[in-house]
Amino acid sequence: MADYDVLIIGAGIYGCGAAQAAAASGYTTRIIEKNRIASGTSSQSTKLIHGGLRYLEQANLKLVYEALAEREHLLRLAPELVSREWFYIPVYEDSRRPVWMIRAGLLLYWLLSAGRSRFRQIPRQQWSELLPGLNQARLKAVLAYEDAATDDAALTLAVAESAKQFGCEISESTSLQRATYDGSCWHLKLSSGEMISARILINATGAWINRLGNRIKPAPPRQAMHLVQGSHLMLNRHCPGFIYSESVDGRVMFFRPWQGKTLAGTTETPYSDDPARIKPTGEEIASILASYNHYFPQMQCKKSDIIGTYCGLRVLPESEGGAFAASRETILRCDNEKQPTYIAIYGGKLTTYRRESARVVKLIGRTVPPPHLADTRKIPLTRSE
Ligand SMILES: Cc1cc2nc3c(=O)[nH]c(=O)nc-3n(C[C@H](O)[C@H](O)[C@H](O)COP(=O)(O)OP(=O)(O)OC[C@H]3O[C@@H](n4cnc5c(N)ncnc54)[C@H](O)[C@@H]3O)c2cc1C
Repeated sequence: MADYDVLIIGAGIYGCGAAQAAAASGYTTRIIEKNRIASGTSSQSTKLIHGGLRYLEQANLKLVYEALAEREHLLRLAPELVSREWFYIPVYEDSRRPVWMIRAGLLLYWLLSAGRSRFRQIPRQQWSELLPGLNQARLKAVLAYEDAATDDAALTLAVAESAKQFGCEISESTSLQRATYDGSCWHLKLSSGEMISARILINATGAWINRLGNRIKPAPPRQAMHLVQGSHLMLNRHCPGFIYSESVDGRVMFFRPWQGKTLAGTTETPYSDDPARIKPTGEEIASILASYNHYFPQMQCKKSDIIGTYCGLRVLPESEGGAFAASRETILRCDNEKQPTYIAIYGGKLTTYRRESARVVKLIGRTVPPPHLADTRKIPLTRSE
């Protein structure tokens, strides 16, 4: 008899989501987190709950459709944590995407959201009032569309709290030292010295996922992947709204209100070192500042106006087109598709954690039938104190 049905390593949004879905379905569940809940990428994101307008350019309609449906579930389940917002897209004479193309994208986004992402063009006379300080030189149009925003760390904590309410145990400041499978259950040694056993082991360690594999016997299957660093700067400036723009080097860049200031980002820098050592590079800082100063020339920021930085790692499956063409979909790798005892969660978006966690629980059910299958679309989430 194992101590737990399900043992999850990593308390980011994916580990907490899997724990919530498993515990709500009646499995005895525990999470082991080496730092604190949401101390990894799940507190370092752009903090949007969205379909991802830019994935339309990759023709990834399935991902956008599913993420938009998840957005609606989260707006309903977590009204204290997820809010619907208008996002503004300024289009300049030299913007890479012309107005007609953005309008076509917004129409498709609206259709994929079943009409829940309204969009409109902002009349010129309202530009200054709605977006004070925005560079209006050679500005041709401002389009607006509806999407949603969150506090990523608070959302992760709320999911963790929900998991706890269903009986999940969470051990912070504890890491997995080694795990061995004996043919019927996993035996795990934790950094606290504790030895525990579990029927199913879930690797939800985000950027550390393949490194954790080195501590597991037999060696688990691995997905070849890229790590891509994304940085944000918190600038000591009021932000007039959620702005979707192009960075000076042509990537998508958001400026969004955050704690009364402006959060600006993100970047996409390939990364191959230890995930614990990430920090924004000099080029990233220069590029974000240059983009901000381009869009808000009257509110120029210098390095001394940076009051905080966020830096996270995307886990992207290796693909022929390189990291930037890689899919943003979540990949679940199991030791055995028919009867998994080990499940690794690669990549994905904050927005789609709930849907993917339901897939994880279905996989668990192939090996350990659930006492009852919970529907997490019916479990509200509240902000933890
Ligand atoms: C810059 C950036 C912006 C993004 N913006 C958005 C956005 O706006 N909207 C959106 O939907 N998605 C966004 N994403 C994607 C989203 O943030 C991630 O997909 C998600 O947070 C990943 O969560 P995770 O649980 O897999 O990983 P993490 O949050 O990194 O969690 C992994 C956890 O595992 C723990 N861990 C590692 N090794 C061990 C060990 N040996 N023992 C115990 N614990 C361990 C770590 O401490 C960490 O807490 C963004 C990603 C990036 C990088």
